[in-house]
Amino acid sequence: MADIKFEKAAALKEKPDVSKIGFGTHFTDYMFEMDYNEKDGWHDARIIPYQDISVSPANTTLHYGQAIFEGMKAYRQGNKAVIFRPMDHLNRLNNSARILDIPEVPIDVAHEGLKKLISIEKEWIPKEKGQSLYIRPFIFADDPYLGVSVSHQYRFLIILSPVAAYYAHGFAPVKIMVEDTYVRAVRGGLGEAKTPANYAASLHAGLVAHQKGYDQTLWLDGVERKYIEEVGSMNILFKIKGEVVTPELDGSILNGITRRTVLAVAKDWGVPAVERRISVDEVISAYEDGTLEEVFGSGTAAVISPVGVLAYKGKEYVINDGKVGPFAQKMYDFIEGLHTGEVKDTFGFVEVVDEF
Ligand SMILES: *Cc1c(COP(=O)(O)O)cnc(C)c1O
Repeated sequence: MADIKFEKAAALKEKPDVSKIGFGTHFTDYMFEMDYNEKDGWHDARIIPYQDISVSPANTTLHYGQAIFEGMKAYRQGNKAVIFRPMDHLNRLNNSARILDIPEVPIDVAHEGLKKLISIEKEWIPKEKGQSLYIRPFIFADDPYLGVSVSHQYRFLIILSPVAAYYAHGFAPVKIMVEDTYVRAVRGGLGEAKTPANYAASLHAGLVAHQKGYDQTLWLDGVERKYIEEVGSMNILFKIKGEVVTPELDGSILNGITRRTVLAVAKDWGVPAVERRISVDEVISAYEDGTLEEVFGSGTAAVISPVGVLAYKGKEYVINDGKVGPFAQKMYDFIEGLHTGEVKDTFGFVEVVDEF
């Protein structure tokens, strides 16, 4: 059992009306923190009042971006507080750590700290269907040093933010633009890590897509601009001739946990689901011969995001008449059922953390 200290807050915040706060705007009363230096390794795990943090103006992360993060969610299931696939997220955090030469966190301490934090903050888990308590673990380099090198000191924090239902106005298909000018990541780069650099690389293209009237960009591979990679902060899946197809993990895309959930559930249903290279040309020709049944994204924030329009080289392709496809709908309902507890979890995805 890890020794995690607790510092009580002088006063607790008033809880907001979650239906009105969107995503990532409000934070709970407490946060988890742990430090790393070469002498002590990861040490001083503690839960303290949520507060601003201070860093040196020469902080290495601010200058060179050696940082990683995770995103997962806690839900209420009747009188239980649960987290969806927490160990998968923590293991992925350590995978990102290896890619960026950040010392891996001791998983048991991180897991214990996460559970303790959620337990203390369980009243912050929203009650309405579709709402959740978003969990953001992150690690950043903390050397006060302008030289370019792997840092010697790090900080690991977990903050919590109650979030409104993503589909407050109904399950709506998005319009996405296939991006053939800018690239987000390349094989051999940081694409498989959940790291701020990948987001920095995507902001401008996202802005341009917005200005053209699209919700997100669909990235192609950085070398040939030919193979499909992923969408903004989601993985992408296609349903072609009854089969679910998603790009294989080649080092340049994120190993999404919702993607894994969708693949596992599809297989459980007996729907063939494959991970392989898929080119934008193959998607367009499937569209043209009428075998492209559905397109949808997967990610923790939206869970499933059906794609209604794909734009490529100035042409718009309307998928399934711009409506939500039956497979995406069924998958969304099923995964949301796993979150709420209405669907029995035969996969072992849900971890009960505490009771109310
Ligand atoms: C977080 C993220 C995803 C989705 O991963 P989930 O584990 O399903 O939330 C996909 N792509 C990128 C780039 C991401 O950062």
